Amino acid sequence: MRGKLAMGGLILGAAWGAYRRLGRLTSLECSYADAPTKILIVGGGFGGLAAARELARMLSGTQDVGVALLDPRNYTTFWPMVPSIIPSNAEVRHVAHSLRRILKPLGIEFFQDEVAEVDFETLRLKSGERDYPYDYLVLAPGSRTTFFGTPGAEENAMDIKGLRDALLVRNHVIDRFEEAEHLEDRAPDDLLTFVIVGGGPTGVEAAADTHDLIFEVLEDDYPNVDFGSVRVVLLNAGDNILEGLDAPLVHAATRRLASQRIEVINDAKVEEVRPDAVVISDGRTIPTRTTIWAAGTEPPPLAGNLDLQKDHRGRILVDEYLRVKGRPGVYAVGDCTSIQYDGPPVPALAQAAEQEGKRAASNLAAEIENKVPVPFRYRSVGQLVDLGEGSALVDILGVNLSGLLGAYVWKAVYLYELGYDLNRAHVLADWTIDLFTRPDTSKLFEDPNQPRVRTRHL
Ligand SMILES: Cc1cc2nc3c(=O)[nH]c(=O)nc-3n(C[C@H](O)[C@H](O)[C@H](O)COP(=O)(O)OP(=O)(O)OC[C@H]3O[C@@H](n4cnc5c(N)ncnc54)[C@H](O)[C@@H]3O)c2cc1C
Repeated sequence: MRGKLAMGGLILGAAWGAYRRLGRLTSLECSYADAPTKILIVGGGFGGLAAARELARMLSGTQDVGVALLDPRNYTTFWPMVPSIIPSNAEVRHVAHSLRRILKPLGIEFFQDEVAEVDFETLRLKSGERDYPYDYLVLAPGSRTTFFGTPGAEENAMDIKGLRDALLVRNHVIDRFEEAEHLEDRAPDDLLTFVIVGGGPTGVEAAADTHDLIFEVLEDDYPNVDFGSVRVVLLNAGDNILEGLDAPLVHAATRRLASQRIEVINDAKVEEVRPDAVVISDGRTIPTRTTIWAAGTEPPPLAGNLDLQKDHRGRILVDEYLRVKGRPGVYAVGDCTSIQYDGPPVPALAQAAEQEGKRAASNLAAEIENKVPVPFRYRSVGQLVDLGEGSALVDILGVNLSGLLGAYVWKAVYLYELGYDLNRAHVLADWTIDLFTRPDTSKLFEDPNQPRVRTRHL
């Protein structure tokens, strides 16, 4: 209890520090509609919003530049907490924030719309019904899950590339226990086996959070289910999970997963996903009705539609100033890009997208003001991996932590990074309530026509 109270204190301190640092926002004075010079940002995720804030800061005194942002969703997602939706450690609404509310104080307009193509000759963005003129463009449409052409994966696996997907996983797992409760000791092997594909941070977090949903949230509610027969299996194509993290952290994660009886199978490439099984490269077939795919990303459909130079993975090629090759006035940032520069590799992470968004915006402002652009250089501030209830890995600026201390730091850092006071207050309340009670297991937002697996969207 004392540890939990200390965590509460730490979290409150971080929240207050973040609030103090928020400071005054700077705003653009000219609207997009009226401005002679129009900037459009495509995508309201980490990269697009970082660009929006920096443009508002850099161009706040100018009278003739207007900015608008387009996104098919009217909210931005705090991705690091998406896996926490599975056990409901954070409530789904609390890790999303309205784009309109973020952008209005910056003097930036928001259009809820999905960009389908860009006419680079006439300088117009086109959605299904409208088109939008621009003089300068920042492309930040992120990424979507790739199944690498694995037979059956797209049809039979779920992913967590969105809040709705994470809820779908949660509801699907709960349904398996509802079925098992009816069947009592006649539950087949595939019913209570849960397979997560991908040994990177998202896969590890999904495995830990699925374990938490089952053993921290559901266990007491299903008296006729043999929880000893539940299997949570993490399939990893490489030699070790969490490739790229320091060895002591990888060992700490491996020990933690083993202590939770999460079976980690390394060197296991998935050959096929069936409705009732996963076939892996060593010939084994794991019976399961639940496959959660967290094994990789690829550029979204928009990137494929654009007449731009791309790398072998379809990512948009940008130079060291984040300018799209061969397209003057167009910048691209975040997961959808491949930067050609003489610097450290840029991972598909929120911190990279934010750094790129900021630098692209400052270079765009410099271009408008005939100033010299500054080359981008990625600086990693480290990585955090949630290992479920009371444990996380932390690698920040060379400091490695794991276990309960890691969990405190994970919570404090992400509470700060959440960015908006309302979300911070909600999530803080979720965690505090969690100290005293188990999360609810109501399957909200169920769509009776929902297919068992999601249809692939953005
Ligand atoms: C489950 C999960 C957990 C993660 N956890 C972490 C973590 O802990 N730490 C970390 O650093 N990174 C994490 N990541 C990675 C991180 O989320 C991404 O690297 C980051 O979001 C990339 O930022 P972005 O701006 O490129 O894309 P996003 O943040 O995904 O934003 C893209 C936006 O573009 C919009 N869009 C797409 N297509 C169009 C279109 N045609 N027209 C208009 N708008 C469009 C989308 O709706 C979206 O709002 C996680 C990712 C996932 C999936």
